[in-house]
Amino acid sequence: MTERDDRPRILIVDDTKENIDLLMEVFRDEFRVSAATKPERALKLAHAESPPDIILLDILMPEMDGYELCALLKKSEATRSIPVVFVTAVSEVMDSTRGFAAGAVDYITKPFHPPMVKARVKLHLDLKHKYELLESYAFVDALTEVGNRRRFDQMLESELNRAQRSGRPLSLIYLDVDHFKQFNDTYGHGAGDDCLRRLATTLSGMLQRSGDFIARYGGEEFMVLLPYTDEEQVWHLAEELSRVVDALAIPHVASGVADWVTLSMGVVTAGTDIHPSPRDLVEAADRALYAAKHAGRHRIERGFLG
Ligand code: GH3
Ligand code: MG
Ligand code: MG
Repeated sequence: MTERDDRPRILIVDDTKENIDLLMEVFRDEFRVSAATKPERALKLAHAESPPDIILLDILMPEMDGYELCALLKKSEATRSIPVVFVTAVSEVMDSTRGFAAGAVDYITKPFHPPMVKARVKLHLDLKHKYELLESYAFVDALTEVGNRRRFDQMLESELNRAQRSGRPLSLIYLDVDHFKQFNDTYGHGAGDDCLRRLATTLSGMLQRSGDFIARYGGEEFMVLLPYTDEEQVWHLAEELSRVVDALAIPHVASGVADWVTLSMGVVTAGTDIHPSPRDLVEAADRALYAAKHAGRHRIERGFLG
Protein backbone atom coordinates (compact mmCIF):
# COMPACT_ATOMS: atom_id res chain seq x y z
CA MET A 1 0.00 0.00 0.00
CA THR A 2 1.64 3.27 -1.09
CA GLU A 3 -1.14 5.57 0.12
CA ARG A 4 -0.08 7.96 2.86
CA ASP A 5 -1.54 7.23 6.26
CA ASP A 6 -2.77 10.56 7.59
CA ARG A 7 -4.96 9.21 10.34
CA PRO A 8 -4.29 10.97 13.66
CA ARG A 9 -1.85 9.34 16.07
CA ILE A 10 -2.98 8.38 19.52
CA LEU A 11 -0.78 7.17 22.35
CA ILE A 12 -2.35 5.04 25.07
CA VAL A 13 -0.50 4.84 28.37
CA ASP A 14 -1.70 2.28 30.88
CA ASP A 15 0.13 -0.22 33.08
CA THR A 16 -2.59 -2.80 32.47
CA LYS A 17 -2.38 -4.61 29.17
CA GLU A 18 -6.13 -5.39 29.13
CA ASN A 19 -7.03 -1.68 29.33
CA ILE A 20 -4.71 -0.95 26.42
CA ASP A 21 -6.33 -3.71 24.39
CA LEU A 22 -9.79 -2.32 25.12
CA LEU A 23 -8.88 1.17 23.99
CA MET A 24 -6.94 -0.14 21.00
CA GLU A 25 -10.11 -1.82 19.88
CA VAL A 26 -11.94 1.51 20.04
CA PHE A 27 -9.37 3.47 18.03
CA ARG A 28 -7.69 1.02 15.70
CA ASP A 29 -9.84 1.84 12.64
CA GLU A 30 -9.54 5.58 12.53
CA PHE A 31 -6.29 6.20 14.38
CA ARG A 32 -2.68 5.15 14.33
CA VAL A 33 -2.39 3.70 17.79
CA SER A 34 0.73 3.25 19.87
CA ALA A 35 0.84 2.14 23.47
CA ALA A 36 3.12 2.17 26.49
CA THR A 37 2.89 0.40 29.82
CA LYS A 38 5.80 2.31 31.35
CA PRO A 39 6.32 6.07 31.81
CA GLU A 40 9.81 6.13 30.25
CA ARG A 41 8.48 4.44 27.15
CA ALA A 42 5.55 6.90 27.02
CA LEU A 43 7.93 9.87 27.24
CA LYS A 44 10.08 8.41 24.52
CA LEU A 45 7.11 7.94 22.19
CA ALA A 46 5.83 11.45 22.97
CA HIS A 47 9.21 12.91 22.00
CA ALA A 48 9.55 10.80 18.84
CA GLU A 49 9.99 12.39 15.44
CA SER A 50 6.31 11.77 14.69
CA PRO A 51 4.73 12.47 18.06
CA PRO A 52 1.16 11.53 18.97
CA ASP A 53 -1.64 14.03 18.33
CA ILE A 54 -3.29 13.10 21.60
CA ILE A 55 -2.44 11.00 24.65
CA LEU A 56 -4.76 8.87 26.79
CA LEU A 57 -3.18 8.54 30.17
CA ASP A 58 -4.03 6.19 33.00
CA ILE A 59 -3.83 7.80 36.43
CA LEU A 60 -2.89 4.92 38.67
CA MET A 61 0.40 3.41 37.60
CA PRO A 62 3.02 1.89 39.87
CA GLU A 63 6.23 3.66 38.80
CA MET A 64 5.00 7.19 38.18
CA ASP A 65 1.39 8.24 38.41
CA GLY A 66 -0.48 9.90 35.55
CA TYR A 67 -0.40 13.34 37.18
CA GLU A 68 3.36 13.28 37.37
CA LEU A 69 3.77 12.05 33.82
CA CYS A 70 1.32 14.66 32.57
CA ALA A 71 3.23 17.42 34.37
CA LEU A 72 6.45 16.23 32.71
CA LEU A 73 4.80 16.32 29.28
CA LYS A 74 3.55 19.85 29.93
CA LYS A 75 6.97 21.00 31.07
CA SER A 76 8.73 20.02 27.86
CA GLU A 77 8.52 22.42 24.91
CA ALA A 78 8.30 19.52 22.46
CA THR A 79 5.31 17.81 24.07
CA ARG A 80 3.49 20.71 25.73
CA SER A 81 0.84 21.12 23.06
CA ILE A 82 -0.21 17.46 22.90
CA PRO A 83 -3.62 17.18 24.60
CA VAL A 84 -3.69 14.71 27.47
CA VAL A 85 -6.93 12.96 28.42
CA PHE A 86 -6.94 11.08 31.71
CA VAL A 87 -8.44 7.64 31.91
CA THR A 88 -9.76 6.84 35.32
CA ALA A 89 -12.09 4.53 37.21
CA VAL A 90 -15.29 6.18 38.41
CA SER A 91 -14.16 5.99 42.01
CA GLU A 92 -11.11 8.17 41.30
CA VAL A 93 -13.02 11.06 39.75
CA MET A 94 -13.08 12.90 43.06
CA ASP A 95 -9.54 13.91 42.35
CA SER A 96 -10.40 15.42 38.99
CA THR A 97 -9.23 19.00 39.56
CA ARG A 98 -5.76 17.68 40.22
CA GLY A 99 -5.63 16.38 36.65
CA PHE A 100 -6.62 19.72 35.19
CA ALA A 101 -3.99 21.39 37.32
CA ALA A 102 -1.43 19.00 35.84
CA GLY A 103 -2.46 20.15 32.36
CA ALA A 104 -4.99 17.55 31.20
CA VAL A 105 -7.82 18.67 28.90
CA ASP A 106 -10.39 16.05 29.91
CA TYR A 107 -11.26 12.83 31.69
CA ILE A 108 -12.83 9.64 30.51
CA THR A 109 -14.06 7.14 33.01
CA LYS A 110 -13.94 3.38 33.14
CA PRO A 111 -15.94 1.38 32.28
CA PHE A 112 -15.78 2.88 28.77
CA HIS A 113 -18.63 3.61 26.49
CA PRO A 114 -16.65 3.35 23.23
CA PRO A 115 -18.63 5.83 21.05
CA MET A 116 -18.37 8.43 23.80
CA VAL A 117 -14.62 7.87 24.24
CA LYS A 118 -14.09 8.26 20.52
CA ALA A 119 -16.28 11.37 20.29
CA ARG A 120 -14.40 13.01 23.16
CA VAL A 121 -11.02 12.30 21.63
CA LYS A 122 -12.17 13.62 18.25
CA LEU A 123 -13.48 16.76 19.88
CA HIS A 124 -10.10 17.48 21.46
CA LEU A 125 -8.27 16.85 18.21
CA ASP A 126 -10.62 19.22 16.45
CA LEU A 127 -10.05 21.90 19.09
CA LYS A 128 -6.32 21.43 18.79
CA HIS A 129 -6.39 21.88 15.00
CA LYS A 130 -8.50 25.02 15.28
CA TYR A 131 -6.19 26.41 17.91
CA GLU A 132 -3.15 25.74 15.73
CA LEU A 133 -4.80 27.44 12.77
CA LEU A 134 -5.64 30.52 14.81
CA GLU A 135 -2.16 30.55 16.26
CA SER A 136 -0.63 30.44 12.78
CA TYR A 137 -2.71 33.47 11.72
CA ALA A 138 -1.40 35.37 14.69
CA PHE A 139 2.12 35.10 13.27
CA VAL A 140 1.47 35.98 9.64
CA ASP A 141 1.37 39.45 8.13
CA ALA A 142 -2.07 39.83 6.55
CA LEU A 143 -0.95 41.98 3.61
CA THR A 144 2.14 40.13 2.42
CA GLU A 145 1.68 36.68 4.00
CA VAL A 146 5.27 36.56 5.24
CA GLY A 147 5.92 36.41 8.99
CA ASN A 148 4.86 39.37 11.10
CA ARG A 149 6.81 41.28 13.69
CA ARG A 150 5.69 39.07 16.54
CA ARG A 151 6.95 36.03 14.69
CA PHE A 152 10.21 37.80 13.94
CA ASP A 153 10.76 38.65 17.61
CA GLN A 154 10.16 35.02 18.51
CA MET A 155 12.46 33.69 15.76
CA LEU A 156 15.22 36.18 16.56
CA GLU A 157 15.29 35.13 20.18
CA SER A 158 15.32 31.42 19.49
CA GLU A 159 17.86 31.69 16.65
CA LEU A 160 20.17 33.83 18.76
CA ASN A 161 20.04 31.26 21.54
CA ARG A 162 20.69 28.51 19.06
CA ALA A 163 23.59 30.40 17.44
CA GLN A 164 25.18 30.96 20.83
CA ARG A 165 24.79 27.32 21.83
CA SER A 166 26.17 26.02 18.55
CA GLY A 167 28.88 28.67 18.19
CA ARG A 168 27.72 29.48 14.66
CA PRO A 169 27.17 32.98 13.27
CA LEU A 170 23.73 34.52 12.78
CA SER A 171 23.07 37.39 10.38
CA LEU A 172 20.28 39.90 10.00
CA ILE A 173 19.28 42.18 7.12
CA TYR A 174 17.03 45.16 7.83
CA LEU A 175 15.44 46.35 4.56
CA ASP A 176 13.49 49.52 3.92
CA VAL A 177 11.88 50.72 0.69
CA ASP A 178 13.31 54.02 -0.52
CA HIS A 179 10.94 56.99 -0.73
CA PHE A 180 7.89 54.84 -0.33
CA LYS A 181 5.78 57.75 0.84
CA GLN A 182 6.29 59.33 -2.59
CA PHE A 183 5.40 56.00 -4.20
CA ASN A 184 2.01 56.04 -2.45
CA ASP A 185 1.54 59.71 -3.24
CA THR A 186 2.25 59.08 -6.93
CA TYR A 187 0.55 55.74 -7.59
CA GLY A 188 -1.97 55.44 -4.78
CA HIS A 189 -2.10 53.35 -1.61
CA GLY A 190 -3.49 50.28 -3.44
CA ALA A 191 -0.49 50.26 -5.77
CA GLY A 192 1.68 50.67 -2.67
CA ASP A 193 0.12 47.56 -1.17
CA ASP A 194 0.68 45.62 -4.41
CA CYS A 195 4.29 46.74 -4.40
CA LEU A 196 4.83 45.51 -0.83
CA ARG A 197 3.27 42.15 -1.70
CA ARG A 198 5.50 41.77 -4.74
CA LEU A 199 8.58 42.69 -2.76
CA ALA A 200 7.71 40.18 -0.02
CA THR A 201 7.14 37.39 -2.53
CA THR A 202 10.32 38.18 -4.42
CA LEU A 203 12.50 38.47 -1.33
CA SER A 204 11.17 35.30 0.28
CA GLY A 205 11.62 33.47 -3.01
CA MET A 206 15.32 34.30 -2.85
CA LEU A 207 15.86 32.59 0.50
CA GLN A 208 17.36 29.19 -0.08
CA ARG A 209 18.13 27.54 3.22
CA SER A 210 15.36 26.06 5.31
CA GLY A 211 16.26 28.15 8.39
CA ASP A 212 16.19 31.48 6.49
CA PHE A 213 13.27 33.62 7.52
CA ILE A 214 11.64 36.87 6.37
CA ALA A 215 9.16 39.05 8.20
CA ARG A 216 7.42 42.33 7.59
CA TYR A 217 8.73 44.36 10.49
CA GLY A 218 6.75 47.54 9.93
CA GLY A 219 5.03 49.51 7.15
CA GLU A 220 7.59 49.22 4.33
CA GLU A 221 10.30 47.48 6.31
CA PHE A 222 11.34 43.84 6.25
CA MET A 223 13.75 41.73 8.29
CA VAL A 224 15.63 38.74 6.94
CA LEU A 225 17.09 36.39 9.54
CA LEU A 226 19.87 34.07 8.40
CA PRO A 227 21.16 31.31 10.69
CA TYR A 228 24.66 29.91 10.03
CA THR A 229 25.47 32.92 7.86
CA ASP A 230 28.68 34.90 8.28
CA GLU A 231 29.66 38.49 7.33
CA GLU A 232 30.72 37.62 3.82
CA GLN A 233 27.67 35.47 3.04
CA VAL A 234 25.16 38.01 4.33
CA TRP A 235 26.76 40.77 2.32
CA HIS A 236 26.61 38.65 -0.79
CA LEU A 237 22.92 37.83 -0.21
CA ALA A 238 22.02 41.47 0.51
CA GLU A 239 23.61 42.48 -2.80
CA GLU A 240 21.66 39.79 -4.55
CA LEU A 241 18.37 40.90 -2.95
CA SER A 242 19.07 44.46 -4.04
CA ARG A 243 19.80 43.32 -7.61
CA VAL A 244 16.67 41.20 -7.82
CA VAL A 245 14.46 44.04 -6.60
CA ASP A 246 16.13 46.35 -9.15
CA ALA A 247 15.36 43.75 -11.82
CA LEU A 248 11.65 43.87 -10.94
CA ALA A 249 11.88 47.45 -12.25
CA ILE A 250 8.71 48.60 -10.49
CA PRO A 251 8.34 52.16 -11.78
CA HIS A 252 8.89 54.93 -9.22
CA VAL A 253 9.26 58.24 -11.05
CA ALA A 254 9.18 60.29 -7.86
CA SER A 255 11.98 58.37 -6.14
CA GLY A 256 14.87 60.65 -6.98
CA VAL A 257 17.23 57.70 -6.36
CA ALA A 258 16.36 55.69 -9.48
CA ASP A 259 13.40 55.41 -11.86
CA TRP A 260 12.28 52.23 -10.13
CA VAL A 261 11.63 50.94 -6.59
CA THR A 262 14.87 50.43 -4.66
CA LEU A 263 15.84 49.23 -1.19
CA SER A 264 18.27 50.37 1.46
CA MET A 265 19.64 47.75 3.85
CA GLY A 266 21.52 47.44 7.09
CA VAL A 267 23.28 44.12 7.69
CA VAL A 268 24.74 42.81 10.92
CA THR A 269 26.31 39.55 12.02
CA ALA A 270 26.48 38.07 15.49
CA GLY A 271 29.77 36.19 15.38
CA THR A 272 30.95 33.58 17.79
CA ASP A 273 32.91 35.88 20.09
CA ILE A 274 30.27 38.31 21.41
CA HIS A 275 26.77 37.53 22.64
CA PRO A 276 24.37 40.32 21.73
CA SER A 277 20.76 40.48 22.88
CA PRO A 278 18.00 40.50 20.25
CA ARG A 279 17.70 44.21 20.81
CA ASP A 280 21.45 44.81 20.31
CA LEU A 281 21.22 43.06 16.96
CA VAL A 282 18.17 44.99 15.74
CA GLU A 283 19.64 48.30 16.89
CA ALA A 284 22.92 47.64 15.10
CA ALA A 285 21.02 46.77 11.90
CA ASP A 286 18.87 49.88 12.36
CA ARG A 287 21.94 52.11 12.70
CA ALA A 288 23.39 50.58 9.54
CA LEU A 289 20.10 51.11 7.68
CA TYR A 290 20.06 54.70 8.81
CA ALA A 291 23.61 55.12 7.52
CA ALA A 292 22.55 53.65 4.16
CA LYS A 293 19.70 56.15 3.95
CA HIS A 294 21.98 58.98 4.95
CA ALA A 295 24.59 58.03 2.37
CA GLY A 296 22.04 58.38 -0.43
CA ARG A 297 19.79 55.23 -0.29
CA HIS A 298 19.77 52.25 -2.69
CA ARG A 299 22.75 50.77 -0.88
CA ILE A 300 23.86 48.41 1.88
CA GLU A 301 25.74 49.31 5.04
CA ARG A 302 27.24 47.03 7.63
CA GLY A 303 26.35 47.47 11.27
CA PHE A 304 28.58 46.73 14.25
CA LEU A 305 27.67 45.46 17.67
CA GLY A 306 28.56 47.23 20.84
P1 GH3 B 1 12.91 56.60 3.15
O1 GH3 B 1 13.59 56.45 1.84
O2 GH3 B 1 13.63 57.52 4.06
O3 GH3 B 1 12.65 55.28 3.77
O4 GH3 B 1 11.51 57.31 2.83
P2 GH3 B 1 10.06 56.68 2.96
O5 GH3 B 1 9.12 57.61 2.30
O6 GH3 B 1 10.07 55.28 2.45
O7 GH3 B 1 9.88 56.61 4.52
P3 GH3 B 1 8.76 57.14 5.46
O8 GH3 B 1 8.99 56.45 6.75
O9 GH3 B 1 8.73 58.64 5.46
O10 GH3 B 1 7.39 56.65 4.83
C1 GH3 B 1 7.03 55.33 4.80
C2 GH3 B 1 5.79 55.22 3.96
O11 GH3 B 1 5.34 53.87 3.86
C3 GH3 B 1 4.64 56.02 4.53
C4 GH3 B 1 3.51 55.07 4.61
O12 GH3 B 1 2.32 55.63 4.09
C5 GH3 B 1 3.93 53.90 3.74
N1 GH3 B 1 3.36 52.67 4.21
C6 GH3 B 1 3.54 52.06 5.41
N2 GH3 B 1 2.81 50.93 5.48
C7 GH3 B 1 2.15 50.83 4.30
C8 GH3 B 1 1.22 49.87 3.78
O13 GH3 B 1 0.85 48.89 4.41
N3 GH3 B 1 0.74 50.09 2.54
C9 GH3 B 1 1.12 51.17 1.81
N4 GH3 B 1 0.62 51.31 0.59
N5 GH3 B 1 1.98 52.08 2.27
C10 GH3 B 1 2.48 51.92 3.50
MG1 MG C 1 10.61 53.01 6.98
MG1 MG D 1 11.25 53.85 3.46
